[in-house]
Amino acid sequence: MTTNATANRVPNFSAGPATIPTAVLERAQNELLDWQGRGMSVMEVSHRSKEYVAITEDAEAKLRSLMDIPDNYKVLFLQGGASLQFSAIPLNLLKDGRADYLTTGAWSGKAVKEAKRYADLGLGTVNEVATGKDSNFTDVPAQSDWSVSEDAAYFHYCANETIHGLQIFEPPQVNAPLIADMSSCILSQPIDVSKFGMIYAGAQKNIGPAGLIIVIIREDLLGQASEWCPLLMNYEHQAEKESMSNTPATYSWYLAGLVFDWLEAQGGVEAIYKVNQQKADLLYQTIDDSSFYNNPVAPEYRSIMNVPFTLADSSLDKVFLAESEAAGLMNLKGHRDVGGMRASIYNAVSLEWVQKLVDFMIAFEKKHA
Ligand SMILES: *Cc1c(COP(=O)(O)O)cnc(C)c1O
Repeated sequence: MTTNATANRVPNFSAGPATIPTAVLERAQNELLDWQGRGMSVMEVSHRSKEYVAITEDAEAKLRSLMDIPDNYKVLFLQGGASLQFSAIPLNLLKDGRADYLTTGAWSGKAVKEAKRYADLGLGTVNEVATGKDSNFTDVPAQSDWSVSEDAAYFHYCANETIHGLQIFEPPQVNAPLIADMSSCILSQPIDVSKFGMIYAGAQKNIGPAGLIIVIIREDLLGQASEWCPLLMNYEHQAEKESMSNTPATYSWYLAGLVFDWLEAQGGVEAIYKVNQQKADLLYQTIDDSSFYNNPVAPEYRSIMNVPFTLADSSLDKVFLAESEAAGLMNLKGHRDVGGMRASIYNAVSLEWVQKLVDFMIAFEKKHA
């Protein structure tokens, strides 16, 4: 049964929830009914049991090793998605001060909008340093044009705008602690965690199932939450409780651990980054070599995880989607704000799948151009 199911797996370019490595799903399947020979699944045991706690400790240790996370950072495994962090960040860190926000697309736009709600309630001041709106978020405003605060409590940006396919590869150089939304690029390339005050990422793009959000936060940023901050959103509290203030998303956390095992077996982040670059190069090259396809993002900011592209003749969009699906290439429809197509090529999407996509694109152009 496993073999047939595996053979039936198709190239899946979903933006999120997104593809999970087949080997991880097979392992989860094998362990499902009889986890560690206990006659129960991992979903059916207490999150406080020593066996489950061992899983969480192992997952954290693996993530620390994969990302080379320094000891003075806490790693939290929380719930509520990246979107809840848009609220948790000002509630924990604004503390009647100022915060800087860079807007480079839909997600950083939502983050600043949510922070402004708390500023409007009197929790502090939120300063949007710049927005890429004028370029339709195909470019990042030059840093010389940013209105950076002298004394910001933090500087927030989104490292990879999933919808617009725009990635900021080098962390901005500012004095305030950097906070990065890495939901769609965590573990895709090596980064220096020590350059950040906080990194957060929902799991359902580049790690595993929805329902889990990872927060990596420098210890000196803990303990400054507003009195209005809900206890479950309070980073210091969650750090003290080892992310178990209440029942965590036990299955998602377990599965994230399996994905970390898988990534280690691939050679870690450095190794997967090489493959990610090859995949992105192949796809962008195909787009750039043709006048039939277009990607509007400034070359230095083109995402290596999410590649939106349009057809010169948008009346062919529906045909492209129908024919690509018939060819077994799934979930290529672009986001409604951008239109056209989008191929999300996260860690679990193989070079072979991207090659299939590129072959299809070239054949489609021949047929319809
Ligand atoms: C998907 C995504 C989010 C929102 O994630 P939710 O889990 O739905 O809240 C936020 N930021 C980025 C960059 C994303 O890709």
